[in-house]
Amino acid sequence: MPESSFPRERRPAQAGWVYLVGAGPGDAELLTLRAARLLLEADVLVYDNLVSQEVLDCVPAGTERIYVGKKASQHALPQPDINALLVELAHKGKRVVRLKGGDPFIFGRGGEEVEELVKAGISFEVVPGITAAAGIGAYAGIPLTHRDFAQSCIFVTGHLKDGTVDLDWDMLARRKQTLVFYMGITQLATICSQLVAHGLAASTPAAVVRRGTTKAQRVVTSDLAGLPEAVKAAGITPPALTIVGDVVSLQSRLAWFHPEDGQ
Ligand code: SAH
Repeated sequence: MPESSFPRERRPAQAGWVYLVGAGPGDAELLTLRAARLLLEADVLVYDNLVSQEVLDCVPAGTERIYVGKKASQHALPQPDINALLVELAHKGKRVVRLKGGDPFIFGRGGEEVEELVKAGISFEVVPGITAAAGIGAYAGIPLTHRDFAQSCIFVTGHLKDGTVDLDWDMLARRKQTLVFYMGITQLATICSQLVAHGLAASTPAAVVRRGTTKAQRVVTSDLAGLPEAVKAAGITPPALTIVGDVVSLQSRLAWFHPEDGQ
């Protein structure tokens, strides 16, 4: 038998550093090795609302935790305050893990936080995470690309400024590609009707997945025209991801993760 080459930790967390870490979409098994090790070594954890309880449970009880996310009734700590907090903790010599849902550089404002660290001369490392699109595609049975259905895949923010529509609908409403909308649930009706208005067939398969990869995962599928109604009827609220494209037609056959069966 060959000896295992399972990697040993090469770079233990350093005092005064900030580690910007992707927590993945929810299932703690989807943490990277690097993320899991840093969670064990951190002096202080700064996290927001997309980080699952299951992942938080991996953090030792004695680690200081600072929550900076939104709760239904409260606002999130404003971004400049989060940036200042990270700098302050690093100056105190802490090993800081800034934990974000999914991947820090995909709709995660990780770039903004790193810019501030660079300005303040703080040492940092960025640890990628499994972004919601990849995690949910896998767990819901929706391959985001497939030679028969989609040769490209586009990640889009569905959080439209002031409710106005500032996306390039002509580019989005093309066949043979998969669209993944992050943060799109409140604007779902606009998104679906704009795609149809710009030429995508109303019969295009589409899905909304809430809390993907967790025990609470819920999947709603429909055609594009019927999706907003189906989602409303199912009572789906954020956080949820919307996937549009012919690849969604594979979902019923490829789904394997059935948390309601106690998996
Ligand atoms: N950085 C994150 C995305 C942050 S934006 C990442 O890479 O995944 C927040 C949006 O991500 C949510 O509104 C939702 O659309 C999506 N999202 C994140 N985790 C999710 C999950 N477990 N299930 C469904 N959607 C999720």
